[in-house]
Amino acid sequence: MKFCSEKSRHASRAPSNEPNCFGTRSNEPFFASSYGNVPSIQKKISESDSFKNNEKLMRIYAKIKQTEQYKFMIKGFEGEKSHLDLHLSVEKLNKENAKTSYKDDLVRIRFNETYIEKASDISIVRTFHHELQHAIKNLHLKRSNNRPSADDYPGIYDYYRRFVTEPKAAGKDRRDWHHNLMAAHSRPEIIRGMKQFDTDDKGIKKDRSGKVYVSALKKEVAYTDNEFYKAMSWAGLRLEHHEEGKPKIKTEAWKKFEKENPDKAFLYRAIIQKESNLYKKKTKTIPLDLPVIDVIGKRDSIPK
Ligand SMILES: [Zn+2]
Repeated sequence: MKFCSEKSRHASRAPSNEPNCFGTRSNEPFFASSYGNVPSIQKKISESDSFKNNEKLMRIYAKIKQTEQYKFMIKGFEGEKSHLDLHLSVEKLNKENAKTSYKDDLVRIRFNETYIEKASDISIVRTFHHELQHAIKNLHLKRSNNRPSADDYPGIYDYYRRFVTEPKAAGKDRRDWHHNLMAAHSRPEIIRGMKQFDTDDKGIKKDRSGKVYVSALKKEVAYTDNEFYKAMSWAGLRLEHHEEGKPKIKTEAWKKFEKENPDKAFLYRAIIQKESNLYKKKTKTIPLDLPVIDVIGKRDSIPK
């Protein structure tokens, strides 16, 4: 099995029927390779009471569950071939919007209660799909007994080798293979999940185009509907997960994107911040890109 080169990794983003670097075709789940004899145990997806009692999240979840992207993502956790259960809950977390962890036969996605309370619906949908991507990576790892091989999952193997196995062998700290892999490969799926959520009963899609003040460019910049989703998909994927007190490291994909498209990177950052302002405002964090236009609008509306 050949390695997933930089070129083929990017090529795998485009919809095609060519096998992508995960060893599957892009129109099927990349975890859908054969995995030998598996005991027939019915695995399932479950929700905690805290999740079921959260009206806002349940309303959003009900709509997410109807989307094709969600159905595609959870296939690996359903049915007799599943290696892992998936459990969803709402808890009080310190900083994160949500957290995905896996131990033994269970993947847990824990959503931050405060985040769910304050964040916009589309932001929560974005987080939901981001966490599902983490869950899938854990499912892969479990299927390979924590030893992903180049034959079964070349993409997983590539990232696991470069960010975990090799640094460890060299006596260095292991790095964040999940977020690096997701930043390079999983954003189209996160975008699909958000877009499918953003349709009404008749299937008409919401228009997310708009304008935002980009402080780094000192001007208001208009963005298209597509740019909105692209920007949002980068949320949580621009930096590697880092521990308190340790330096922040940019993911490879974001570093490259930022270098090649500096203005767009500023715009995307402003869109992400604008979307999270609701949440941040209420938690008294001053956003870096203040929505100056809104302020001017208010001032203008004051009767003279
Ligand atoms: Zn993450």
